[in-house]
Amino acid sequence: MSRLLLASNRLPVTVSVDKQGMRVVPSMGGLATGLRAPHTRSGGLWIGWPGDVHRLRPEQRAAVDAQLQAMGLVPIDLSAAEVQHYYHGFANGVLWPLFHYLIDRVPAASHDWEAYRQVNERFAGALADRYRAGDTVWVHDYQLALVPALLRRRIPDARIGFFLHIPFPSSEVFRILSWRAEILEGMLGADLVGFHTYAYARYFATSLVRVLGLDVDLDRVWYRGREVRLGAYPMGIDAAFFESAAQEPEVVAEAAAIRGHGGGARIVLGVDRLDYTKGIPRRLLAFERLLEHEPSWRGRARFVQVAVPSRGEVPAYEQFKHQVDELVGRINGRYGTTQYVPIHYLHRGFSQKKLVALYCAADVMAVTPLRDGLNLVAKEFVACRTDLGAVLVLSEFAGAASELAEAVLVNPYDIDAVARALAQALHMSPEERAARLRAMRERVRENDVHRWVAAFLDDLGLAPVPVAPNAVEPGGGAGVELVARLRGAGELVLLLDYDGTLVPLRPRPDQAAPDGELLGLLERLSRRPGTAVHVVSGRDRATLERWLGALPIGLHAEHGLWSRPKGSLTWAAAVELRDEWKAYVRPVLQQISHSTPGSFVEEKSGSMAWHFRQADPGYGPYQAKELRLHLLDLLSNTPVAVVAGDKVVEIRLQGADKGAVVRRLLADAPGAPLLAALGDDRTDEDMFASLPPGGLAIHVGPGPSRAPHRLADPAAARALLAELLSPG
Ligand code: UDP
Repeated sequence: MSRLLLASNRLPVTVSVDKQGMRVVPSMGGLATGLRAPHTRSGGLWIGWPGDVHRLRPEQRAAVDAQLQAMGLVPIDLSAAEVQHYYHGFANGVLWPLFHYLIDRVPAASHDWEAYRQVNERFAGALADRYRAGDTVWVHDYQLALVPALLRRRIPDARIGFFLHIPFPSSEVFRILSWRAEILEGMLGADLVGFHTYAYARYFATSLVRVLGLDVDLDRVWYRGREVRLGAYPMGIDAAFFESAAQEPEVVAEAAAIRGHGGGARIVLGVDRLDYTKGIPRRLLAFERLLEHEPSWRGRARFVQVAVPSRGEVPAYEQFKHQVDELVGRINGRYGTTQYVPIHYLHRGFSQKKLVALYCAADVMAVTPLRDGLNLVAKEFVACRTDLGAVLVLSEFAGAASELAEAVLVNPYDIDAVARALAQALHMSPEERAARLRAMRERVRENDVHRWVAAFLDDLGLAPVPVAPNAVEPGGGAGVELVARLRGAGELVLLLDYDGTLVPLRPRPDQAAPDGELLGLLERLSRRPGTAVHVVSGRDRATLERWLGALPIGLHAEHGLWSRPKGSLTWAAAVELRDEWKAYVRPVLQQISHSTPGSFVEEKSGSMAWHFRQADPGYGPYQAKELRLHLLDLLSNTPVAVVAGDKVVEIRLQGADKGAVVRRLLADAPGAPLLAALGDDRTDEDMFASLPPGGLAIHVGPGPSRAPHRLADPAAARALLAELLSPG
């Protein structure tokens, strides 16, 4: 079993100092429970903030550190300013409301990004310092979204997982964030990015398309030469614990006592942190509406709302607390009597046992957050109710709703609908209650927190981890070796793709003319002893001639359909030119370019292409898939091939691909030269595949490739070529 390195904002302990002395108490939360076993069994480490330990005296601090160390916990101390800016300011002040769709709670301007970045750097540094080859790293939640990439930079071949415990919003909301690209890039440092639901994973994928312009498959994306997997892993709870706690005699007695206090009135229960995402005010208003519309419930139903104090330091939470206090007062004033208090509002936290007693006492559990990553309370309630005698009313906007379909699902924004759902729950027959709860209980028991941990870690274990030597930096590490091989060759044939390899990709093809530096580089390479330079491009003959025709190099246009040897002015075609197929293809391409704004058709002698780089980043790739399917059907008996390139679909004569160029040059070469091919897209893979044994395939940029060597971008490709010219 590989050693597990965990990172979360908080360590799973509470450090407290009281009259009895100093204590480090393990947390009872679901995450801590689920991860305890794999963390300890693997001899792992858990890195996080131990809470406010500044006020400890030095000897107390030393004792705390010793205890933490014995538990495999590594404290990251945060200064008061860091807590203020990284945690309250950015994580809870900006990311939290935005990811929960509460845009008007996102401050107009935030100055806390830098603190967020720096604390993420510290976590990444702490992980890197302790990392040993073979470890598995699992980073948790929105406070640490940059850690995967920051760690990847330090340890390129680490196996890294990231799990987001809150919702990932729709891309239309996410892209409001000023630091949207940084957050996405941060998360993409992981090999596996996990979410509670498929919807969140899909929204993340859409943001990758819209914000970063990446090509995303259903569950994976290529980013900087690595494959990043995306997945849905709805978190579970420690179901066995809740089930057995619910049956303990003292808990049973406590539940009976709670029921008794209300003189037999039915209990509607709410349990939440006092957070504006939890929908508490609307829920209270819904209960008020129920009493208004069905007066028979006055005196016969009461609402117990546990509101655990939370983030009281943040002004927005302070105001929110006042709002809830006032609401409770108003409703109780309106419907309360000397014997009946409609809303019992408990502004404090409860121990797990007390909470279980409350779950067991309730007739209706109302979980109606406006938005919630998952919501554990709903699952805990379901696990506790072995008697099958209660009803769960659950918000459609809680992640748990995707698993708990038998709950009474409700739109928490619609107060009347919530009131109706509460009435439906109170009126529900015992048979229906039992049937609904039974189905949910089975699922909650089966998919518990241990299963959740195992599912994520299993998938992370299977995720392909990047191989470090694949990435070469000219001038360093693997790059030196590559340059040495190129330099050492007596005869060297360089096969260079143009767009995306020697020059960056541009929105329009005519914007990618060579600059003086590139022309000089190619000129000097072609004069290097024993070196032949070929540019192998998808461009047409006229463009290559205009841009590169004056150089003493071989030119290959239209993916090798046309070749012009060094020193010659005439082009020769590799295959018989036939174009009867164009009559079928042209109208199809014209039609799709009309219906896809920003796309256009390009026609060459042996090929036609539909370019969609400037089309809508979601619609363009979708149309491209449709087009390919349609053309494959249409052209099944013609001498052409349909090829998907980078934001282009190309239809071209068969037998005229870049691989054929390699084979021809090899056949014509007198000796046994070293062939080195540099390319960036699908069409260059033909070239790589046709290299003889010993040939060097070098992929430029991100994206999948069979090439064993990889350069970051055209600038890196040029730098590598320039090194061949410097006196080694
Ligand atoms: N909880 C608790 N004491 C309380 C109220 C709640 O320990 O008085 C726990 C509850 O058992 C649950 C967690 O707090 O495990 C709340 O998790 P949830 O996913 O519902 O909401 P979050 O607070 O993470 O937004």
